[in-house]
Amino acid sequence: PTEVTASEVEAYLAATLRVEDGAAAGTRARQHSEGLPDIEVSPLQARLLELLARIAGTRRALEIGTLGGYSTLHLARGVGEGGQVVTLELEPDHAAIARESLDDAGLGERVEIRVGRAVDSLQRLVDEAAHPFDFVFIDADKESNLAYLDFAMRLTGPGALIVVDNVVRAGDVVHAHAESSMTQGSRAVLEAMGADARLESTALQTVGAKGWDGLAIARRVT
Ligand code: SAM
Repeated sequence: PTEVTASEVEAYLAATLRVEDGAAAGTRARQHSEGLPDIEVSPLQARLLELLARIAGTRRALEIGTLGGYSTLHLARGVGEGGQVVTLELEPDHAAIARESLDDAGLGERVEIRVGRAVDSLQRLVDEAAHPFDFVFIDADKESNLAYLDFAMRLTGPGALIVVDNVVRAGDVVHAHAESSMTQGSRAVLEAMGADARLESTALQTVGAKGWDGLAIARRVT
């Protein structure tokens, strides 16, 4: 049989299932043309986030790590009309690009972008005693994953979904003494998820144009 790559299969699946419309493709194109790093979730993964949010009946989603708003756009679709997404981003330039794309897609009103260090924004959300979130997507600096999970537990209630990106890191995650602080962040969050009796957790390995990685997915039970 002819050799096929995971990237070719990813392109085939994304095209055949028509996972991306013009607004989503435009969001991705804008962030690339603006020179943002190519580190957003793939179209198939973005659609998974959207579907998870919709299946779970999510009304309020929290995202840590906006970049150009590609995953944000899908979460905003997933929460539906009247739903809300709060997304946290360190870089004002990233937030401005995301804002433009979300407004162009007609989803701007559903999304609040808070600029600054995510731990500060998260503490502010705790202090504000904001309504609980029912979906949290963790996708910023991986070193802080454990702190982000801790905040996610303070900002959600039973039934909430928590998704953490980049938990496989081309397999490096199995190395207890991995040199990468990002891998250590992924290991720390996975261990905390596994040890927390309030969470039922799983993870999916992913392959494709962005290599070998994975998503951890948990449902908060109590
Ligand atoms: N979720 C986006 C998507 O899939 O379209 C990708 C997010 S990208 C992987 C990570 C983002 O987190 C970057 O835009 C980066 O600037 C931001 N970031 C890094 N450190 C941060 C911090 N301490 N607080 C908030 N955002 C941070």
